[in-house]
Amino acid sequence: MAAVQSIEYRGVAAGYGQTRAVSGVSFTVNKGERWGVLGRNGAGKTTTLAAAVGLSDLQDGDVLLDGQSVRGMPSYQRARAGLGYVPQGRDIFGSLTVEENIISAIRGGTTADALDTAYTLFPRLKERRRNGGTQLSGGEQQMLAIARAVVTRPGILLLDEPLEGLAPKVRQEVMDAITRMAAELGVGCVLVEQYVDVVLGFCEYVVVLESGQVVYAGRTDTLRQEHAHVLENAIGLRKI
Ligand code: ATP
Repeated sequence: MAAVQSIEYRGVAAGYGQTRAVSGVSFTVNKGERWGVLGRNGAGKTTTLAAAVGLSDLQDGDVLLDGQSVRGMPSYQRARAGLGYVPQGRDIFGSLTVEENIISAIRGGTTADALDTAYTLFPRLKERRRNGGTQLSGGEQQMLAIARAVVTRPGILLLDEPLEGLAPKVRQEVMDAITRMAAELGVGCVLVEQYVDVVLGFCEYVVVLESGQVVYAGRTDTLRQEHAHVLENAIGLRKI
């Protein structure tokens, strides 16, 4: 089965039980496109990503994978359809080695191909392949979390603050790998990140959230050129 080629948020409202965190979220990501989600702390970025994978409650509207509603679709089926997700914090097994972590994530295809893909993207992981997850630096753990998602061969990959807690040089290394992954594997990305300059640099399209509402969804260059006030209001950013 080919991995999902598009994800569409259609008037999504999402939250937790009775609590609504975001509403009116509409945008479509096609395979190969790079999208970002910006907003202050608590604006609803994580909730927006989580709604697609089933980790927050989809309270209204819909999320469609290649036009098919995710409602009633268990999380594992969404993953199997090719929706990849790298949650905030590092989603790895501390007691397994790097290589075991990667192998445990593989779905379909050969182990050799998966390891080749992971180690080509992250040469550092190859050097550390026999190290345990807990013996890795923060940056290496983040690379491993991304590698685990990549070897599932997603069509669309949701990344929640992959640079959190990393030193500037390591942030650059992780972003370089994400950039190569998007370009070489043609994976569509939705990147949630606090580093506004990183998002504006990497993403062709951006969604800006302010208190759970979408205040912009569209091309990044148009945002910069014509709607700079949106960024100023939503995230207090003056210089772009
Ligand atoms: P940050 O940048 O701080 O990660 P965010 O933009 O990702 O913030 P969310 O984590 O989506 O924001 O949170 C949106 C709102 O939902 C916030 O008001 C938050 O307190 C609330 N919220 C988040 N997780 C839960 C939860 N599990 N149960 C109830 N409310 C939650």
